[in-house]
Amino acid sequence: MRLLLIEDDTALADGLLHVFSRGGYTVTCARSGGYAESILLAQEFDLVILDLGLPDKDGFEVLQTLRARKNATPVLILTARDAVDDRVKGLERGADDYLSKPFDMRELEARVRALIRRRYGSFGSDMKLGRLTIDTAHRQALIDDQPIILSPREYGVLEALVVQAGRVVSKDRIAQRLSVGDEEIADNAIEVYVHRLRKRMEVCGLKIRTVRGLGYLLEKPAHE
Ligand code: CA
Repeated sequence: MRLLLIEDDTALADGLLHVFSRGGYTVTCARSGGYAESILLAQEFDLVILDLGLPDKDGFEVLQTLRARKNATPVLILTARDAVDDRVKGLERGADDYLSKPFDMRELEARVRALIRRRYGSFGSDMKLGRLTIDTAHRQALIDDQPIILSPREYGVLEALVVQAGRVVSKDRIAQRLSVGDEEIADNAIEVYVHRLRKRMEVCGLKIRTVRGLGYLLEKPAHE
């Protein structure tokens, strides 16, 4: 799962980066609102943790810009401000949850998990699709509970398809989920990853369909 952490307090950002990375999340840190907005245009995240007091702009502004672009990524506001007005303002502007500093790390982790679960349905850190299980905490795929070896990027593509199972996922969207930092992922690289995954998935009866001009679709097993 991909997390964008928008926080200018270096010590706090480093601490959160450490905890969430250990929990299997791919974490990107943004120290300013401007950088956060540009990275939110280029990449896709499963959740955003947003500090309100940023050096260049107010976190509310980042939230408003995100929602104005019709980006529905869940946002958890993390801030030292605990006034009721700010909570209401955050929620009204499209935040999904709110936690005041100082906070308990376990509570933050639990809320992050809950928001991701809400976004993707009943999934916990394990996502099951027929005989396939994706263990997002360990970035590992299993067929009939036996781990299969995938490269980090193959795993990333599979996760992108599994969270949207039954729906078409565009190449752009896959690229946005694979990209870390400023790297660009070529279309033909994605084709190669999908080709390899398709073979691996056939073993457990899951089909990855190419929808011409649109992207790829991982078919849900008929009985689910
Ligand atoms: Ca701050």
